[in-house]
Amino acid sequence: MRVLYLAGSGRSGSTLVTNVLGQYDGVLAAGELRYLWQRGEVDNRPCGCGQPFRDCPLWREVRREVPVERAGAIAARLRGRLRMREVPELLRRVRAGRRPVDPHPDDAVLTDLYAAVARHAGARVVVDSSKLPPYGALLGALPGIDLRVLHVVRDPRATAFSWRRRRGLDGAADQRLMSRPPVWKAALLWSVWNAVTARIWAGDGGRYLRVRYEDLTADPAGTMARIAAFAGIEPGAGPFTDPATVRLAPTHSVAGNPSRHRTGLVPIRVDDQWRQGLSRWSYAVVTALTVPGLRRFGYPVRRGAQSTDVGSRSAPVGASTGDEEG
Ligand SMILES: [Zn+2]
Repeated sequence: MRVLYLAGSGRSGSTLVTNVLGQYDGVLAAGELRYLWQRGEVDNRPCGCGQPFRDCPLWREVRREVPVERAGAIAARLRGRLRMREVPELLRRVRAGRRPVDPHPDDAVLTDLYAAVARHAGARVVVDSSKLPPYGALLGALPGIDLRVLHVVRDPRATAFSWRRRRGLDGAADQRLMSRPPVWKAALLWSVWNAVTARIWAGDGGRYLRVRYEDLTADPAGTMARIAAFAGIEPGAGPFTDPATVRLAPTHSVAGNPSRHRTGLVPIRVDDQWRQGLSRWSYAVVTALTVPGLRRFGYPVRRGAQSTDVGSRSAPVGASTGDEEG
């Protein structure tokens, strides 16, 4: 089965991309599947369709085929295997052409999960927006999974600003997970996860596509067509009602941020409130900590300068789709 894995760091537009992809025939926008065991099964948070996870018609079917009674333990072991301190070893293994993550008895459960998801959803492509590169590497090593990696990158000054504005994952009641990392931490995470994503997969042309949020918002229909072609998705009618507007039906995405519940006509346009809202100090801190990545992905170092690729057009500031995305 084919899994389209959205990799990179948070607040880069991956929820929007996932929801749009979920509107195409034969595609399931499954959301952040690495959180299925804890936030889905144990915490019973809402599915993208609005039902509590355990009551959702799709996940009810899938749950029959995986050991949900062990969900808490599976979630804990998965967190243990995906720790940041394991990343140098993971990269050494990738460089040596070895399996990136050690095999584990839970791998059979994960394989069964993705197979059950694809079967019950009738999907040829399952979109997993878990983002964390080590989890993607773990998935890519599972038998029967044909992994394609979509690396979504956004200007780190925008993502740092977005983290500061972050809302609860599933409404105001959710205080525990409302972390608002300081800008230096957001910048370091941006650098690490984008560099690791590129290091693991960028050399594998047929299985890796990098898209910038800024290019998506500059040309939504064209960029989504590129992504669909890369993932082997039939473009069909697609969800676009004009080149920059999509009609979104509910998805069955598990975990993620509140914007995955958005439905109806949704304009896709750049959210650049950070250009006014981010302080000079924060801009300087984030820029200083991300210079190699800025250069690599074509973002300007100086404030107000143009990025070196498409996607730098100015656009209306205001309520917009992009900035709540995970
Ligand atoms: Zn659902």
